Amino acid sequence: MLKKILIFILLCVNTALALKLKHAEHSDFYRVVIETEKPVKFEEIPFLDSRIFVVSINTNSRKINKKILKRKYVKSLDVIYSGDTTKFVFEVSNKIQGYKIYTLKKPFRIVIDLLKKEKKQKTDKTVVSNDPIFDIIMGYELREKKKTISTKINTRKIIVIDPGHGGKDPGAIANGLREKDVNLKIARKLKEIIEKDPRFKVYLTRNSDRYIKLYDRTVFAVKKKADLFISIHCNSSPTRTESGTYVYTLNLRGARSKLARLVEQRENKAVIDYVRVSSNPVVNRIVADLAISTTVTEGRRFAYYLKKYLKHITDFKDIDSANFAVLKTPGIPSVLIETLYLTDPADAQLLKNDQFIENFSYSIYNAITDYFFRE
Ligand SMILES: [Zn+2]
Repeated sequence: MLKKILIFILLCVNTALALKLKHAEHSDFYRVVIETEKPVKFEEIPFLDSRIFVVSINTNSRKINKKILKRKYVKSLDVIYSGDTTKFVFEVSNKIQGYKIYTLKKPFRIVIDLLKKEKKQKTDKTVVSNDPIFDIIMGYELREKKKTISTKINTRKIIVIDPGHGGKDPGAIANGLREKDVNLKIARKLKEIIEKDPRFKVYLTRNSDRYIKLYDRTVFAVKKKADLFISIHCNSSPTRTESGTYVYTLNLRGARSKLARLVEQRENKAVIDYVRVSSNPVVNRIVADLAISTTVTEGRRFAYYLKKYLKHITDFKDIDSANFAVLKTPGIPSVLIETLYLTDPADAQLLKNDQFIENFSYSIYNAITDYFFRE
């Protein structure tokens, strides 16, 4: 018992480190320093809007004087306490063109250098496409940041595959096929292929014909600490005029295109719950937003790899985004694949073909290895 109490006290001490905020003006950057008494785990959460970023630190110190920072460079700094972490939400001004985050020792400090706009910084940022979101994700700056904060190495990547629908919810039905059966068949094949690679551990949200709520599927992924969440579906078109493959990522604002809106409505039919993080509604909203931003940006990065491989074996139509309940897996990159159209006779024929299912699954596997291991 005494031992237990001692451990408890030690844990408390460990999570209640004092944080000191410091700053310094330099000619070409403005430095913000978060000083801690000893080394702490921290994580940087980038946003789609590159003016906002979050530094999440594993401590719950509550005495932080954020007023010292110059508003000229840091437009706002919100400090959010949730559980054992303290989240610093930075919004930088338009005088800043980029930032670098790294650590220094003795005393341990997290250094955030906000690079000023006046003096052009030398970067070898290359434009990958003319899609701004893709550029942010694939761009030099993010990759550079990832290198410095990467803490998860040499662990098996956990992939959660979610065969859509099941049980009382058959999904789309056409051309002698039920969506729930095809989804499960692809998911099982995909699991079999990925599991041959020792770098991965794979879980299915269902491995039989049973009904699972969308919310429970996301909870499953969170509990398994998934590194990637892939929901498998088949499309259907009431007019039977559509065919081909679509990959969807999460967009909290909802679908952009009319077609995506239709898919969003159909796939969200079973929705009741939304992802809840804490009982405090304000914290809940902000923290969920933070984690969800990783889900969105990283999901989109994975979607580009899917396109790279799938386009060779199917009529790959588009990567789109919509507000899918099943993709609200905070912090986990998530995609929903609409394999092909059950309502299209040629697509349905392919879905009945085992060789096609295998090729399709193998392409997803290639995209997964690229996503995690390609430099
Ligand atoms: Zn579906």
